Amino acid sequence: MRYNLLDTTGLIKTPRPVAAEPIATTRQPQPVGPEMIDPFGRAITYLRVSVTDRCDFRCVYCMAEDMTFLPKRDLLTLEELDRLATAFVEKGVKKLRLTGGEPLVRKNIMHLIRSLSRHLDSGALQELTLTTNGSQLTRFASELADCGVKRLNVSLDTLDPDKFREITRWGELDQVMKGIRAAQDAGIHIKLNAVALKGFNDAEIPSMIEWAHGEGMDFTLIETMPMGEIDEDRTDRYLPLSQVRTDLSERWTLDDIPFKTGGPARYVEIAETGGRLGFITPMTHNFCESCNRVRVTCTGTLFMCLGQEDAADLRAPLRASEGNELLSHAIDEAIGRKPKGHDFIIDRATKRPSVSRHMSVTGG
Ligand code: SAM
Ligand code: SF4
Repeated sequence: MRYNLLDTTGLIKTPRPVAAEPIATTRQPQPVGPEMIDPFGRAITYLRVSVTDRCDFRCVYCMAEDMTFLPKRDLLTLEELDRLATAFVEKGVKKLRLTGGEPLVRKNIMHLIRSLSRHLDSGALQELTLTTNGSQLTRFASELADCGVKRLNVSLDTLDPDKFREITRWGELDQVMKGIRAAQDAGIHIKLNAVALKGFNDAEIPSMIEWAHGEGMDFTLIETMPMGEIDEDRTDRYLPLSQVRTDLSERWTLDDIPFKTGGPARYVEIAETGGRLGFITPMTHNFCESCNRVRVTCTGTLFMCLGQEDAADLRAPLRASEGNELLSHAIDEAIGRKPKGHDFIIDRATKRPSVSRHMSVTGG
């Protein structure tokens, strides 16, 4: 049976949680310095921080079931993550997205979010946001809103509870639906992200779009990317979004619109539903020319491109001194070698993933 929000009873109202104390950081944000410009003239204004590689789901396209996670001692502390993100804000980052793994399973994550929200208050940061699987939102939605989080990306690949369990291995659709409703009740705008998977959710895509638009949510489709070894062959599931778009065009009127959220999605408006549909097409349409982002992992490794192995260690300079000079220098040096684009390939001849790390290391 399909999941229908109208059938859902018991959409619980969470009590407003007690606000977390801000992290005691000795450094206040400094005046914003010169922009980070990469060798291709792109200004880097968007940082994604993966705060944990752990997750309470095991989505089949993302992780193997028996994933080995990093030992806790290798992770940056919340104070170090704060210092690192703050250094980027001082260097011109305007948009900060926390991701994972599942960011909301990191212990005391609200301390970090509360602390980072000071950059919204100061105006240095324009947006603080998260990508989440939604499983913890009933618990955290109102506090996130209180910290100035205005938008969330929630990943949802199906509205069918059985299929949801199949794709996430460990997830419960009802829990996520309650989380989405809690976030909406807290005034947070939700964008749903779905990975398009052949033979899994292709037939369901139109009804998911109709449902999301009916609930006032944007909807974005993502092509599966060859990142990390998983338990199945990704070629079996790969569904080019050019094909999905063609199919949707036969049903609806899709108008290209210049709408941007700072990410790589290209948007259309669907006349019949009145909502926005985004396409993230790393495989069929390279979006690298407008790339404005870099990603840092929970161990302080900076990846200048999601689809390349080259990385810079920021943990050593972060820990080497209390000041940020070494860190700032390491960031500049890394931005100076940001590549032009990625090398993703999905075909039957390429048996190994293009990038050996899983998406849960750098986050989406
Ligand atoms: N756990 C959170 C979530 O699921 O939203 C945040 C991290 S998750 C790695 C971020 C996004 O990456 C999700 O939307 C997920 O569907 C997507 N993703 C994971 N593995 C992927 C892959 N191999 N190709 C394309 N998208 C992937
Ligand atoms: Fe967890 Fe997100 Fe990966 Fe699913 S996609 S396993 S929710 S990190």
